[in-house]
Amino acid sequence: MDKQQRSDTAGIGTPRRTQEIIKRYGFSFKKSLGQNFLIDPNILRNIVDSAGLDETKGALEIGPGIGALTQQLAESAGKVTAIEIDKRLIPILRDILADTPNVEVIQGDVLEVDLPALLARQFEGCSGVSVVANLPYYVTTPILMKLLEERLPLENIVVMIQKEVAERMAASPGGKVYGSLSVAVQYYSEPELVCTVPHTVFIPQPNVDSAVIKLKLRSEPPVAVSDESFFFRVVQASFAQRRKTLANNLTAFVGKEHREALVALLEGVGVEPGRRGETLSLTEFAAVSEAILAAKWVV
Ligand code: SAM
Repeated sequence: MDKQQRSDTAGIGTPRRTQEIIKRYGFSFKKSLGQNFLIDPNILRNIVDSAGLDETKGALEIGPGIGALTQQLAESAGKVTAIEIDKRLIPILRDILADTPNVEVIQGDVLEVDLPALLARQFEGCSGVSVVANLPYYVTTPILMKLLEERLPLENIVVMIQKEVAERMAASPGGKVYGSLSVAVQYYSEPELVCTVPHTVFIPQPNVDSAVIKLKLRSEPPVAVSDESFFFRVVQASFAQRRKTLANNLTAFVGKEHREALVALLEGVGVEPGRRGETLSLTEFAAVSEAILAAKWVV
């Protein structure tokens, strides 16, 4: 591509530019890779602004597509690394972003990449790193759980995801959509819904609406638990059947023979056994988990 053509692509994330690029490179969308490209410059700006970047900071983008968000990130961050799974997009991205020296595009599946090594290598010297992405819907939760569970040295994760999933992540106890995903996300981060986004601002349009969520990574979990994986097993078990009481769900977890002792244990930590999992705070889940762990009913 010559210089004139390249300057024509300034502001990739508009309907006209995106159509132009798709046509020029003969690109065809793969639904199986969650390829829905953003074509609204205001929303792109909003995503980037939410990450609080500056020239001393790094941004890791997952799934750059044809580079609409990447281009905006490059203007706000000191260094941008973008991981894209689709091999067909790599030469397109390298061409379109050829005049953007602070961007590096890496081909790969983010679920397979050694992220601690990649972050150390790509963002050496940066004062902080955020993940910023319009995530492919089919793997949103596995990607976010990988980012959180690996306890990566990140400041923020700002992502566009399915609206319903964002609402579950940010939900408070007592709400209809509060569940094990809310507890897991809130254990590692403080979620904040930034904005909701209609399905009309993508090419092609997905069937669902989206939302931008910001996860501010915690330096310490909000509750102290002695065995994290046991804590998450207790949380999962508490939501196993949403209409069942905590006592019933947890009986299935600890074994029928411990039912009576379990009821006493819940009362002992101040949690009424007739409550449902969806009403418990993280502090209450931690108290229940610690008590069941100490009872040694489950290995
Ligand atoms: N960032 C672009 C935008 O906002 O227009 C594209 C976003 S599109 C929703 C998701 C992108 O993630 C696609 O380019 C897709 O090929 C890529 N992708 C899908 N699965 C991936 C994975 N496991 N690892 C890295 N990239 C992936």
